[in-house]
Amino acid sequence: MGSQVGDPLASEDQQSWKRKRCEEGSITAMQTKIDALRKDLAKLTWEYKMQKICETASQGPLGQNDSRDPSSIPPYRKRGSQVSLSNCADIICYMQAYGVLVCKQHHTAIVNLDKHLLRYHNVPALAQRQIVDCFSRLKALDPAEVKLPDKPAEAIEELGKPLTGLQCTTCVYITISKEQMRMHCKKDHQQAWKGDTSQLYSIVKVQSFFSTGGLQKYFKVR
Ligand SMILES: [Zn+2]
Ligand SMILES: [Zn+2]
Repeated sequence: MGSQVGDPLASEDQQSWKRKRCEEGSITAMQTKIDALRKDLAKLTWEYKMQKICETASQGPLGQNDSRDPSSIPPYRKRGSQVSLSNCADIICYMQAYGVLVCKQHHTAIVNLDKHLLRYHNVPALAQRQIVDCFSRLKALDPAEVKLPDKPAEAIEELGKPLTGLQCTTCVYITISKEQMRMHCKKDHQQAWKGDTSQLYSIVKVQSFFSTGGLQKYFKVR
C-alpha cells in the first residue's frame, strides 16, 4: 500500500525524494544550459570561419600571390596543398555574389567538394567530412544556374589570371579555342572561314568559373 499523509517516515521519504528530484532538476537545467552554450559556441565558431572565408574571397588586387608558372601544365591538374579544417578557409572561399565555392589554389569553382579535396588536395577521409560539413551550409549553385557577370568587370582574382579569348563579332559567343570559333562561325552564321578571318572575332580577356568537364562558360573581363 502507498504511504499516507501524516506518516512521519513516509513524509521524510517524500522530502528526500523531492530534494533528489530538485537536484536532478537543476542538473538537467544545467545540462540544457551547457548544451545551449555549446551550440552557441559552435555557431559563433562557424560564423567566424565563414566570415573569414568571405573576407578572404575579396582581398587584394589580381596578380598578387600568384606564384603560378604560366608556361607549365594547367593549374587545375596540379596537386594542391593538403587542406585541413584549420586552413580550409584560406584555400576555399565562397563567392556569395555568384553562389560558387572557389578553390584559390586551383583557380576554379568547385562542382563537388568531396571529389575536389580527395583528388587534388590529398585529404584524409575524416578531415574531408569535416571540411565538407563546414561548407555544407553555404548555398553553392548548380553550374548551370551560376550567372556570369553581364558586363566586362574587373577580373576575379580567385579565378586566376584571365585567359585570351575570342569573341564573335556577330553575336555574344566567346571561346578560347580558334577551332571552336571556326565551327561557330560556320554553323551559326554560315560564314566562310577563309583568308583573313580576323574580322569575324575580336581578341578579349576572359575568365570562367569552371575550368573542366565542359562546364566552361567564358565571360569578358577588363
Ligand atoms: Zn583545389
Ligand atoms: Zn556568333
